[in-house]
Amino acid sequence: MRPTYLEVNLNQLKQNLENIRAHVASAKVLVVLKANAYGHGVDGVAPFIAPFADYIGVAIPEEGIHIRNMGIATPILVMGGTLPEQLPAFLEFDLTLAASSLDLLESAEQLSASTGKRLKAHLKIDTGMERIGVREYEAEALIEKSLSCKHVDVEGIFTHFANSEEMALRGVKQTSPMTSAALQLERFEEVLSIYEKRSEPHPQIRHTANSGATLLMPESYYDMVRPGVLFYGIYPGRDIEQTIEVKPALTWKSKVVFSKITQPGRGVSYGSLWHPEAESRIATIPCGYADGYFRRMTNQAQVIINGKKYPQVGRICMDQFMVNAGNDDVKVGDEVTLLGNGIRAEDLADWVGTNEYEVMTNISARVPRVFV
Ligand SMILES: *Cc1c(COP(=O)(O)O)cnc(C)c1O
Repeated sequence: MRPTYLEVNLNQLKQNLENIRAHVASAKVLVVLKANAYGHGVDGVAPFIAPFADYIGVAIPEEGIHIRNMGIATPILVMGGTLPEQLPAFLEFDLTLAASSLDLLESAEQLSASTGKRLKAHLKIDTGMERIGVREYEAEALIEKSLSCKHVDVEGIFTHFANSEEMALRGVKQTSPMTSAALQLERFEEVLSIYEKRSEPHPQIRHTANSGATLLMPESYYDMVRPGVLFYGIYPGRDIEQTIEVKPALTWKSKVVFSKITQPGRGVSYGSLWHPEAESRIATIPCGYADGYFRRMTNQAQVIINGKKYPQVGRICMDQFMVNAGNDDVKVGDEVTLLGNGIRAEDLADWVGTNEYEVMTNISARVPRVFV
């Protein structure tokens, strides 16, 4: 195995899930495993965590099929948009559809009727994200349609928040250009009340809460919560109230593959963007932007070698980058930590100018995942 790898602490993930579960009391927990389990490696995370999850969430049917092919029987909701031609896979692999339009629900009903197999669906209501789903003011038609579906099993109804991690905005309605989670929840309630008006029971699984709402809005839990980033031990906002204790489970490690003293006048890496001011030990690390170590972090990132932080210097290359170890004796084979043990996903996100989600999901398939 290559010396650059991700170590994933599965017990920490389980602990995070237990802490979330304890906080949300009787609500079910959907564990979000999309995007290769937020970069952690779905092949290790899914089989380990599935027995403890009520539901699994993925973005696209292929991710659901991959999990089914591991022999996992936990219900799987495909949360993203779906084209009608993708529907047969939902039947074949027992995936739950996010029914985000009347047309899609109608296609699902026709497919179920013609095959005699019941397709499971959750109605997707758009209360302010403006991504996919039927807006609250047009939801009555979708609900009517769903009540008349004889072959599709409409088991749930859900919405997704655009700003749940913005604590200050939770109660704010009209004064901000952002749509507050409180307003979205009000709109979701309006939709649920349509069932009461018609004296029909609402679908069994009502759900709205992503990580931000799971932390901040108990009134948003309903029957199930959908924490993603929080399950992986990362808080969805920098100064969000940490009402649930979670810890990251990832450590990104490598080893020094080359070590030398370089001198003033000898610029380091492509573009010679960095020059030592004095003789300096430069260590080369066999990891680059093709592994997901963003080129944008050039001359900003830090790594830990032998317990000490050192600055990354010179352009980050596709497969390697350099570190300035100053006067320290850093040798070939010394362990390097790129993430974890005091370097947080938040730090990498700041160096790149992105969020923790992109840092984690960007770690490429070339980096082996080791599950401990
Ligand atoms: C990704 C996703 C989530 C999880 O979001 P986090 O911010 O990571 O908690 C929840 N619901 C839907 C619909 C999603 O697409």
